[in-house]
Amino acid sequence: MELLKQKIIAEGQALSESILKVDSFLNHQMDPVLMREIGKEFARKFQDSQVTKVLTIESSGIGPGLMTALELGVPMIFARKRKSLTLTEDLLTASVHSYTKKETNEITVSNKYIEKADKVLIIDDFLAVGQAARGLAEICHQVGAEVAGFGIVIEKAFQNGGKELREQGYKVESLARIKSLEPGKIDFLNTEVIHNV
Ligand code: 5GP
Repeated sequence: MELLKQKIIAEGQALSESILKVDSFLNHQMDPVLMREIGKEFARKFQDSQVTKVLTIESSGIGPGLMTALELGVPMIFARKRKSLTLTEDLLTASVHSYTKKETNEITVSNKYIEKADKVLIIDDFLAVGQAARGLAEICHQVGAEVAGFGIVIEKAFQNGGKELREQGYKVESLARIKSLEPGKIDFLNTEVIHNV
């Protein structure tokens, strides 16, 4: 997605060989115009997948997740990283280790909002080793819901998450794929070859 790529080039900062900082438009301040375009792009890529729910994880997945849900005309659910006092129903949970924060969270979703008949599109801001993606898929599988696929804003293709999910047969659509990072340098993979991986 060209608009996203240009934004990453203009404002992204490679903090190391593995971490990309995009706080100015995705992870802290959010660019609503870019989020709307991201939502349209994911909706287009999954328009034939009969998606009934969008599932993401707080907090940075909410912007792209909500815009995608708006375009698809379905509700969005975000998994919580901390148990909410008001979440008193039965909870679906999965354990997710955060790559950037170096902590493990028990992520939760109320079983009221995902059911067996659902076809769930999972959206997240980044895909690195795939812990968050797998945790969200596990939550769907706990109730027997189908995972329609994964919509990822930025995939770090030099880490294994995307490769593993595709090998498991999932449809993974990433709007920007990073080949490598080094301080001051961000290299992209050609997004046109995503489907051949
Ligand atoms: P994974 O579970 O695939 O290893 O990592 C995905 C999660 O970690 C995302 O939800 C994202 O919040 C965070 N993350 C992973 N790598 C990066 C990165 O390079 N930059 C930022 N800003 N977040 C990342």
